[in-house]
Amino acid sequence: MSRTRKNKYLVDIRNHLLEALKDVLIPPACPVCRKPSSAPVCTQCMQAIEVVGGKLCPRCGTSGQGETCTNCRSSELYYYQARHFAYYAKTIKVLVLRYKKQGMHTLAGLLARFLEICYNSHYSAAPIHYLDGLPSVPMARICRCLESNLKIPYANNFKKIGPAAKQKFLSAQDRRLNPQGAYKVARSLKFAGKNLLLVDDIFTTGSTLNCLARLAKRAGADKVYLLTLARGV
Ligand SMILES: [Zn+2]
Ligand SMILES: [Zn+2]
Repeated sequence: MSRTRKNKYLVDIRNHLLEALKDVLIPPACPVCRKPSSAPVCTQCMQAIEVVGGKLCPRCGTSGQGETCTNCRSSELYYYQARHFAYYAKTIKVLVLRYKKQGMHTLAGLLARFLEICYNSHYSAAPIHYLDGLPSVPMARICRCLESNLKIPYANNFKKIGPAAKQKFLSAQDRRLNPQGAYKVARSLKFAGKNLLLVDDIFTTGSTLNCLARLAKRAGADKVYLLTLARGV
């Protein structure tokens, strides 16, 4: 064994030992309420998840009368369908914050599992060739978990090309226009004639995802399905 490989091997062993030791010294806790829990999320926090259900707008997946909502009728949408696991509140809101802002990378698997449940409810029969998401490290981690669980290849075909202005400081019109200059499709041929599953954490206005769907369609994609963890409330 070479010296470099041996060092890597020793570092791997050390990391495994540290993880095992951590579980002994610090009992596992629910990442939401921090109370001791052997499950990934405690029962009480799991029960607080408000899953999106009932009659949905067939297009954007918003709860309603089961007909295309007024927003979808008046908007130019490039995605074929959008579906969301839960509402952005309580447990889901805390999990997303812990994952994205507080560096709890280990939550990627759990968040991907929630997305998988939503996928199985709505898209399992859809002919999807690739999955993809916003080009960010947290989203890439979730996409890789989904790639492994759903057996759909992660295209990783969107690239950031400009600094997207902070969405919260923009007007509704600027929000719609902003992402177009911020992202591009890296390899157009990859999307040509393919159906895409576009994954994200939160769907509020859907503008960023709609713009990514537009870029994918312009690159020749056939249908773009959106799958998000949470519908903004
Ligand atoms: Zn809890
Ligand atoms: Zn709608």
